[in-house]
Amino acid sequence: MRGGGSVSLTVGIDLGGTNIRASVVDSAGEVLDTVTAPTPQSARALEDCLARTVRELCGRHAIGAVGLAVAGFVDEDRATVRFAPHLPWEDAPVAQRLTDRLGLPVILEHDANAAMWAEYRFGAAAGGRNVVLVAIGTGIGAALLANGQLYRGSFGVAPELGHLQVVPQGRPCACGKRGCWERYCSGTALVDTALEMLATDPQRSTVLAREAGRDPGSFTGRRVAGAAQDGDLVALDVMADFARWLGLGLAFVSDLFDPDLIVVAGGVSTSAPLFLDDAREHYAASITGARHRRLARIRTAQLGEAAGMIGAAELARAALEAQRDAVPVAPARR
Ligand SMILES: [Zn+2]
Repeated sequence: MRGGGSVSLTVGIDLGGTNIRASVVDSAGEVLDTVTAPTPQSARALEDCLARTVRELCGRHAIGAVGLAVAGFVDEDRATVRFAPHLPWEDAPVAQRLTDRLGLPVILEHDANAAMWAEYRFGAAAGGRNVVLVAIGTGIGAALLANGQLYRGSFGVAPELGHLQVVPQGRPCACGKRGCWERYCSGTALVDTALEMLATDPQRSTVLAREAGRDPGSFTGRRVAGAAQDGDLVALDVMADFARWLGLGLAFVSDLFDPDLIVVAGGVSTSAPLFLDDAREHYAASITGARHRRLARIRTAQLGEAAGMIGAAELARAALEAQRDAVPVAPARR
């Protein structure tokens, strides 16, 4: 891959608390090859595993750079992991360590930012200029695109939209605060709301009450959405409550940021027919001066779980090309 030509293939890695997924991605965002492995629990073993995984892919493809999507705080230099709640790194210069082992440029990116970049380049956010992405799963991951660029804040932390407090003294959150938006608008919130509603009026529910009676611990957001699909009255109320919180939160974010497009991603977005139209109505009803402004379009993501990986690979490609443009004679590796 030497000689100043454009890089055609890069590796994008989605680094979750449970699994590592590494893919070879081309310049059109197509995934060509994938290797997966369980995520090791120590920093050393994790770096060994990442190096092994990339080497395996390098054995089959000519790779120019590596991008890592990390669920955690990544420094603004995109080389250091400050803190990641499910990974064994703290203030760790991960990019340099991997570059030393692999002889390839490595960049890190917050996973929501990586997903945003993939959706912007190849998916639902294409053509947007100021875009908000909310990835709704167990919590809310969020990313902002401002004038076609990822907005990373001053210290690489922005934006933690899921932890905006929407209910003073509300449900406790793992972050230590109470009443965070994601405690009302996430897959976990679907379960909590369902259990609260079942406790007050179990007779209204046909499907959910039976399942909760059997094993409340097995309840998931997906099951609640499934019960709503089957017409369970309580589950339908739960989805309506979720839609209200989604619309309200997005109105908050739009009052601050005035986006032209909002992309709803994450596991819960696959149930969008159950809540998205409702959420749009709550959004329009909650935003300031709705009659006198253009409202953002609200769409679902297109790239699914692969978005973080594809975005990381694409950001690695962009970083490498920028580096080559800036210093055309400097070799990227030895
Ligand atoms: Zn919180």
